This record gives sequence, structure tokens and C-alpha cells, in this order.
Amino acid sequence: MLTDVGRVRAHNEDACAADTQLGLFVVCDGMGGAAGGEIASREAAAALLKTAKQLQLDGGPLERMDGAIRAANHTVYQHARQEPRLRGMGTTLVALELSRDAASACVAHAGDSRCYRLRALQLERLTQDHSLVEEQVRLGEITAEEARRSHLRNVITRVVGSNPNVQPDVVLHTVQPGDIFLLCSDGLTRDLSDGDLRSILNRHRRNLAHTARVLVDAANLLGGGDNITVILIAVDGDAPPQHSGL
Ligand code: CA
Repeated sequence: MLTDVGRVRAHNEDACAADTQLGLFVVCDGMGGAAGGEIASREAAAALLKTAKQLQLDGGPLERMDGAIRAANHTVYQHARQEPRLRGMGTTLVALELSRDAASACVAHAGDSRCYRLRALQLERLTQDHSLVEEQVRLGEITAEEARRSHLRNVITRVVGSNPNVQPDVVLHTVQPGDIFLLCSDGLTRDLSDGDLRSILNRHRRNLAHTARVLVDAANLLGGGDNITVILIAVDGDAPPQHSGL
């Protein structure tokens, strides 16, 4: 897990957190005036972990994740209502919860922070950005490359904390031994293509801490125009992993 302010911004409005007992990981990318962005991302990440823990024995992973994100939304929204200077603050959120047997992963997101899965050298993006440019790519109006360069790339269509309600995407994915998951904020992906991410992950995958550093350094080398946050989760290739061993 690594977060970096980048080379242009004065503050880091990203947040990342993990509860390895629960197998739960989260990246948030905050926005809003005053200190709103920093507060929104930190509060949302903390509220997600706290609620997921409270709901641990309730329902399945999808319901638990959905409930935890709604609680995060409520926490940030209520705080903004109480402090006028924070009005409108919000955050993206991408979270992954690994099942106890490491056979599946529940991935949820709102906004343009992403989850990728590296499997057998191939990188697959598991989330679709909730952003204006992603919508334009889907409609065939612009290419993925044009989307990365667009001045509208920061316009996101779903956000945690800015409205009374949030509509996250929550999806269950299969997990295989050897899989590596990457959660990241758009500070990583605005300058690095999926192909760049794949080569770096494949080249450095044996040491995750080092890989995280290489990813952040690469984004900084290309400008570091935004805060950069990555979480890497490797699923043991030989035996079913224990959460505590992650
Ligand atoms: Ca960002």
C-alpha cells in the first residue's frame, strides 16, 4: 500500500486503508474545497472498514460491501452538512474484500478509482469508471487514449459523500492462486496506460512493496500531476492463503 502526493499538488487528498483480518482493502480519492478532499477520502475509507467489520456476520459479501459504502456515504455527507466550508465534499472509492477461503473477491466502486486483476500475465480491469469520458468511450465517441488526455477526464458521475445516497457497483469476481489485484486512484492511470501497468506488474511482481514503488515512480516520472495511490494484493500461488498472511 503506497500513497504519494505527486509532483504538482500541495496536498494528498487520496486515502488508503486495509484490514488484513477481514481481507478488506480500500482506496479513496477525495475532492472538495478547503480541506474537504482530504477529509472526505479519509472518513470514507475509515467508515467503510468500520462498518464492514460490524456487518461481518450479516448477510453475504455483496450486501455487506453495499451497506459499508452506504455508511461511508452517510458519514461524509452528514459531516459536510454540519460544516458549511466542507459543503459538497466527496470522494471516489474502490474496495476489495477477499473471501475467507480466497476463492472470490467482492469488488465495489464509485467514481474513477480502479481495480485491476493480473492473472497469467494478463491484466484485466474489473471496474468501469463512473466518469464522463468513460461514457464517451463506451459510446464510441472518443478513444481510450483521447479520454486520458481530455480536459473533462476529472468529471465523475458517481461519488461518495456529496449526495444523500450513492449507487456503487458491487461485483463478485473469481480468485485463483497467483492472482494479483491492484487498487488505484486516477493519479496512477492518467499517465500510465493499461499496457504500462501490465508490463510493470509482470516485471516486478515478486516483490509487491517494490512493485508499488515502481508504479508510483513511473507515474511521477510522467509528470505526477495528481496524487497517486496503489494497493497491491497477491493471492498465494501455492496454498490457499490466510488473511493474516497477506
Ligand atoms: Ca485524483
